Amino acid sequence: MKNDSNIQSGRCQCGEITYSLDKEKVISAHHCHCKDCQRTTGSGKATILFIAKKYVDLNGELKFFESKGSSGSHVRRGFCPNCGSGILSYAKEISRIFYVKAGTLDDSSWVTIDSNFFTKSAHNWNMPDKSIKCFEGNPSVISGIKTILKSF
Ligand SMILES: [Zn+2]
Ligand SMILES: [Zn+2]
Repeated sequence: MKNDSNIQSGRCQCGEITYSLDKEKVISAHHCHCKDCQRTTGSGKATILFIAKKYVDLNGELKFFESKGSSGSHVRRGFCPNCGSGILSYAKEISRIFYVKAGTLDDSSWVTIDSNFFTKSAHNWNMPDKSIKCFEGNPSVISGIKTILKSF
């Protein structure tokens, strides 16, 4: 973390969990319309940033809930044990990559979304943005990330 202007901060609603990340290290950003993201956010989708764990500086103790993803991986969603805000998640199989929830950033104006995941379960009241790439289901994120990891 050399350039301080690239450091972005975020937190849960009560402030027990805070974090900072290097925005230059964000791999990509996505809307995920899967049922699990809809349930945990209580909304039409989750908006997530892919970034290596080492570029996220987390303060506070997240509580994790683990569920099985469609690809067979185990997704661990981390939330504040006090206020319940979802902060980040990761697949147990590739724990070096965090999926940070974009809405928890103090300033997310710099975020550009690359694609939509699980458009098949998108709701009419929250349709996917068709101007970006759409994946009907899981876009083989795991294999994609494994390729990315080789460059770290
Ligand atoms: Zn909290
Ligand atoms: Zn999802």
